[in-house]
Amino acid sequence: MNAGPRNWAGNIAFAARTVVRPRTFAELQDIVRRSDKVRVLGSGHSFNTIADTDDTLVILSDLERRIKVNPAARTVSVDGGATYADLAPVLYAAGFALPNVASLPNITIAGAVVTATHGSGDANRNLAAAVSGIKLVTANGEILSLSRGDTDFDGAVVSLGALGVLCELTLDIVPSFHVRQNVYLDLPIATVVENFDALMSRAYSVSLFTRWQGATIDQIWVKALGSAGEPPVDVLGARAATRACHPIPDMDGTNCTAQFGVAGPWHERLFHFAIGNTASAGAELQSEFFVRRADAPAAIAALHAAQEQFSGALFISEMRSVAADTLWLSSAYEQDTIGFHFTWRPDWEPAIAAVKAVEAALAPFDPRPHWAKLFTLPPAVVETRFQRISDFRNLAQRLDPAGKFRNRFVTDLLFS
Ligand SMILES: Cc1cc2nc3c(=O)[nH]c(=O)nc-3n(C[C@H](O)[C@H](O)[C@H](O)COP(=O)(O)OP(=O)(O)OC[C@H]3O[C@@H](n4cnc5c(N)ncnc54)[C@H](O)[C@@H]3O)c2cc1C
Repeated sequence: MNAGPRNWAGNIAFAARTVVRPRTFAELQDIVRRSDKVRVLGSGHSFNTIADTDDTLVILSDLERRIKVNPAARTVSVDGGATYADLAPVLYAAGFALPNVASLPNITIAGAVVTATHGSGDANRNLAAAVSGIKLVTANGEILSLSRGDTDFDGAVVSLGALGVLCELTLDIVPSFHVRQNVYLDLPIATVVENFDALMSRAYSVSLFTRWQGATIDQIWVKALGSAGEPPVDVLGARAATRACHPIPDMDGTNCTAQFGVAGPWHERLFHFAIGNTASAGAELQSEFFVRRADAPAAIAALHAAQEQFSGALFISEMRSVAADTLWLSSAYEQDTIGFHFTWRPDWEPAIAAVKAVEAALAPFDPRPHWAKLFTLPPAVVETRFQRISDFRNLAQRLDPAGKFRNRFVTDLLFS
């Protein structure tokens, strides 16, 4: 039995021969210098083998936590092992906020950034777009610093971990703000399709949750700025929830951030799952596909038409909006996007059959897959979806000619 680390979902047993936990940057640099092949394991919240290696797996959780707020520059610098749960309370105490976060706080900032992890909001870009500087331990153990505006920067942020070990990131921050969260129930899919832009743009962050059963969206999560005034009693006829909701309808909403429109700190509302609480179902698999914002109503109609082919494998599905950015391997590279997320039941074969059904339904819209979740699109198709893959390959060849940081996942997907 493999007693080594597994991912959060438990579906991947990492094959690493050596697992190391450096406590200082110097130790980390020495490990990288001496190893033939290196991957970093963040908090292990990815669902595929993106973090895997059969050689040296580096875990940065024992690095001294370094969180340095620079109020004048409106930035914060964090070490490569820090999580959003580490960062958010410190930022809040200093009077600052991140522009946006993912659904859960317990993921490393580095792991989220290199996979283009995102939240929702028409004006909110994915989390990597908040990065203004990185420090990368490269193949020879030296530290390379890159800042926004440098030639290689847009290629190096969403890196799939293939350029080196991120030991420090600098993020843009904004003045702290309050958010009110309200959940509304049962909106006909036809109403969603007809009013999609109005629905998604009605607040700072909007998520639509559905099991793709019948003809309704189950829940609309509306996260409005505290300054936006009292929340409406209904949304296009969808009624306000009267009990704390969980994205998966049968699960306990008390693990989630506060609802019912009570204004509170950004980090106690923007995550769906509260700091310190269990996120999502736990035993599950996930996939996500991104389409151009303008194609979203047609994509919803296509998924609705095909729903019987995949809804049996589903716990819940979520739609979120992500604004365009300029990061080469970002799922929102140069296009405003809608992400169609799927939380699958933890049964591999039905889940993969369902992933294929979703990929087929979305094929007319050229979806980009989420790097950290499950997809079956072949590399040749993925190549057509991310226009800058060949530029990224050239960057990787230049920074890491021997492929020290490339694992099977990255090689098969981007270098085969
Ligand atoms: C319950 C749940 C909810 C989720 N919600 C969202 C969501 O709201 N939005 C979304 O977009 N995604 C979401 N995800 C996916 C998640 O954000 C990604 O899997 C993300 O990569 C997790 O970060 P991690 O620290 O666990 O990274 P890991 O899974 O450990 O690693 C991911 C990648 O990052 C690399 N990496 C990690 N640290 C470093 C480093 N210091 N230097 C270089 N490379 C590094 C790894 O090598 C690997 O390639 C969710 C996942 C789960 C399980």
